[in-house]
Amino acid sequence: MASTYDPRMLPLAAFARSGAALEGTVPLADLPRLRAQSAVEPLETAAQFRATGSERFDTTGRPQIWLHLRGSCRLTLECQRCLRPAEVDLEFERDFRFVANEALAAVEDDESEEDVLVFERQFNLRELVEDELVLAIPLVPMHPSCPETPRFSVADPDFDAQAPESPHPFAVLAGLKRRSSPD
Ligand SMILES: [Zn+2]
Repeated sequence: MASTYDPRMLPLAAFARSGAALEGTVPLADLPRLRAQSAVEPLETAAQFRATGSERFDTTGRPQIWLHLRGSCRLTLECQRCLRPAEVDLEFERDFRFVANEALAAVEDDESEEDVLVFERQFNLRELVEDELVLAIPLVPMHPSCPETPRFSVADPDFDAQAPESPHPFAVLAGLKRRSSPD
């Protein structure tokens, strides 16, 4: 049963072999690296995830441990256009394959479409969810359209319409006087 697994200590091999699934919710308060990106104090925000394990066999018949993982979280970031808080939906969906050691992971990750990670008997799924959500944060977060026009970035058309310096009334008067005075 899915609920018997602890996402911080997932027994990867058994999870994959039995084709188990685990879904859950992690409060943002428990995801420090994601929380650090938040523009506001996260009160009720949480990340959702769903993981499915599977055992597959390579061409030589050796079993491989796979994990299909998807996750999502709504995070409040600072809009880089208007500098106001903007809610951004982060999500990812990826396949992971586990190998015996770092060296193999480094080589095979480059060659594979799936992400290759080092096998751990007790795998911290929660950390992987956080890693992927941090990667899903846009480099330049922005509102699709900002709630208000930023104050100083747009020229006011009325201001421009006020013609190039209308002459001061006294200056006009002075001009008239000069014109009427005999030369
Ligand atoms: Zn904005």
